[in-house]
Amino acid sequence: MEDVFRFADDLGPLKIVHIHRPSVGLKAVVAVDNVACGPAIGGVRMAPDVSTEEAFRLARAMTLKNAAAGLAHGGGKSVIFGDPRMPLRDKERLIRAFASAIEDLTEYIPGPDMGTDELAMGWIQDEIGRSVGLPREIGGIPLDEIGATGFGLTAAVDVAAREIGLELKGARVVVQGFGSVGRHAARFLAEKGATLVAASDSQGAIIDSTGLDVAALSALKAAGRPLKEHKSGRAGAADAVIDVPCDIWIPAARPDVINAANAARLNTRMVAQGANIPCTAEAEQALAARGVLSLPDFIANAGGVICAAVEYHGGTQAQAFATIDEKIRANTQSVLAEAKRTQVLPRAAAVALAKQRVRHAMQTRRWEAR
Ligand code: NAD
Repeated sequence: MEDVFRFADDLGPLKIVHIHRPSVGLKAVVAVDNVACGPAIGGVRMAPDVSTEEAFRLARAMTLKNAAAGLAHGGGKSVIFGDPRMPLRDKERLIRAFASAIEDLTEYIPGPDMGTDELAMGWIQDEIGRSVGLPREIGGIPLDEIGATGFGLTAAVDVAAREIGLELKGARVVVQGFGSVGRHAARFLAEKGATLVAASDSQGAIIDSTGLDVAALSALKAAGRPLKEHKSGRAGAADAVIDVPCDIWIPAARPDVINAANAARLNTRMVAQGANIPCTAEAEQALAARGVLSLPDFIANAGGVICAAVEYHGGTQAQAFATIDEKIRANTQSVLAEAKRTQVLPRAAAVALAKQRVRHAMQTRRWEAR
């Protein structure tokens, strides 16, 4: 028999709940990893091929991300087995059944993830009054629309730029993946005087060393058109952005896009990780060896989850922006200082900082201390 405690270590998981409601075809797993900092916030992922292991690994990532972000929230994640493109009525039935099944699991606060969205969070809220990432009409702060993650990424870049003596005014920026994260990062950096010299989406890239019009590119994407149709600059294949010389390179698309095979092609001073795990461990080492600073994903892209936490506590959009700015600046500063002091990569310093915060919080808990 499989060992049900195979994921257990000194941080968690606190509990893993398997849910089965045959009458509606619901199979789901909720992993609550660690709640010492507060109730766990983490997304609900819907896909046909999810697993208990995926739920646990994502929950652990949220424990570290929320602690690194300085939030009074632990980490959790849930997965629902199913095709997210199923008819909306069926999806609503499934999500509502899921919500009712987790009603008493009060240490877990669900949010959107792959295969779920703000409408799905609205259904969960309607069922049990506990979720984040809600539609604006019922108290949500639409984090993708306002660019919460791109805003936070810009704050991290601003702090790191000072650290390496890079002036943001006139700095050349490349964005891979011009979606919710990428296009807002380009917009906020342009507001600080940086120049977007290349951008890509899944269908291709557009490159112009004299500068691209960020607003025009965003309008193109909003109209459902690919970036390569932009009037100025030169169009190329999607991965052409890897070779474009720049000061700040922003991955904001898929995991593992920078790896041992292509890391040497990057000609930049900083990689600001908007996407989750966009660089393999080998690539991060290789970049560091060349003096390229990598800002780890869970420090630099925490704007979204910080926004969700502010929403959960009833805050406004303005408070969300202020909190993102304050927390990401402070955390980037701490991580870079610690990395320098201990001579480790920023990622290792960030993980150490997050674990230290979780362990500290665990000392305050009655059930941990005894
Ligand atoms: P999105 O779907 O809005 O945008 C992704 C963009 O990447 C799209 O424009 C798509 O065309 C493009 N893309 C896909 N494959 C590509 C490729 N091979 N080359 C170039 N471009 C490609 O998604 P998003 O919400 O912006 O998320 C992007 C990444 O950031 C994901 O890894 C996500 O997990 C992570 N992330 C998102 C948030 C958030 O707040 N949305 C927060 C933290 C992390």
